[in-house]
Amino acid sequence: EGHIVIIGAGQAGTQTAEALRSGGYTGAITMLGDEPHGPYHRPPLSKAWLAGEMGEAQLVMRAPEMLAKKGITLRTGVTVEAIDRAAQKVKLAGGEALAYTGLVLATGSTPRSLPLPGIGAPNVLPLRSKDDASAIAARLTTCAERSLPVLVIGGGFIGLEVAATARKKGLAVTVLEAAPRLLGRVLAPLLSDWYAALHREHGVNLVLDARIASIETDAAGEAIAVLMTDGSRHPCGLVVLGVGVAANDQLAAAAGLACDRGIVVDDCTRTADPLIVAAGDCTARQLADGSLLRLESVQNATEQGKSAAAALLGQPRPFTATPWFWSDQYDRKLQMAGLSGGADAWAVRGDMGGDMAAGAAFSIYHFRAGKLIAVDSVNSAKDHLQARKLLDAGVSPTPEQAADGGFDLGTLIP
Ligand code: FAD
Repeated sequence: EGHIVIIGAGQAGTQTAEALRSGGYTGAITMLGDEPHGPYHRPPLSKAWLAGEMGEAQLVMRAPEMLAKKGITLRTGVTVEAIDRAAQKVKLAGGEALAYTGLVLATGSTPRSLPLPGIGAPNVLPLRSKDDASAIAARLTTCAERSLPVLVIGGGFIGLEVAATARKKGLAVTVLEAAPRLLGRVLAPLLSDWYAALHREHGVNLVLDARIASIETDAAGEAIAVLMTDGSRHPCGLVVLGVGVAANDQLAAAAGLACDRGIVVDDCTRTADPLIVAAGDCTARQLADGSLLRLESVQNATEQGKSAAAALLGQPRPFTATPWFWSDQYDRKLQMAGLSGGADAWAVRGDMGGDMAAGAAFSIYHFRAGKLIAVDSVNSAKDHLQARKLLDAGVSPTPEQAADGGFDLGTLIP
């Protein structure tokens, strides 16, 4: 009958498996994951779960029994070492080979490291997996007991969410960001500045343009401070590394599939091999103009998962919807629709507030050549949902309309 093998038991892999079944696939499905856990949600690992506001059970994305009921075989603790496209087989660590009639690459991404002396200390930790998060949670407890500060390297979403969570727990927190502003890759300068003010208001020691020289370790090899090139020293009990991720495209590259900081796929998640699709963080999607788009988000993994299943079922389903993302820091929920890079004009709707504690709610509308390209909303879920509709429909308000809280943008949605 057929056997679809899915490499990676995360967001994209799980979505693909279930979409294959709901799409009518009746052959065998095997999902292989190298982690010891079944599919779980990653976003809470830096947010509610790390803060202790959410139980273990709520992290579960799909219980293995649920998958079994759908005829999806989940094998955890299994690493795929190679793909033999000619023989249509994947080779597992330990020597076992599995034949496939369709193959899904949903291998995710791996946190980047930094070439710094001391980086290998056991209390210098990245945050990607549940096991990473458990290790960080345990270290946060130690920091609290011993009154040691937490040091976050990298002012991106994960680093800042960990910083906010650690502050909520009452820990001293320093964030070191190499760039002149926070979240520089994804946010417009005025929102970067707003986030910097928010974190400082909550007591974070935020260092921009940070130049790290090394991580100082004690006799036991534990990190005890981060040393800067200007001679300053930040003592710490834990260093969290949040300096971005790299796509896990090595298996695909070794099998001769095109990779360019991600497995190159089309709108329908297809690779050049008709039997192989790829979905989620591991991909780089080729756009109509030839450029490559890498997205690291739940939406991208979910939508590409649906497209991957459709492609294997011979019913190509392009995923071209407006990208969206969210981030929770303190009591602020940021929701982003569209990609704001390249904007040449902005309009602010609502109140960015001088006083962060007052609970400002607002949205920033980004325009390029007069056309709406993205909307970033803080504590404004309504604006966000409306923005996705506007962007999906390709409808632009004028910047004046966007900035006018009395103007109902909903009237523009066809
Ligand atoms: P993953 O979920 O990483 O799954 C890939 C799996 O494949 C992993 O388990 C990996 O170990 C396994 N694997 C890799 N290679 C092999 C192999 N050779 N053999 C077997 N298994 C293998 N996104 C949002 O949209 N909003 C958020 O607020 C948000 N917050 C986040 C917070 C944190 C702390 C993290 C880590 C991520 C967050 N993300 C967020 C990103 C989101 O979780 C990812 O984009 C999403 O999980 C990607 O899904 P995926 O299936 O592509 O990869």
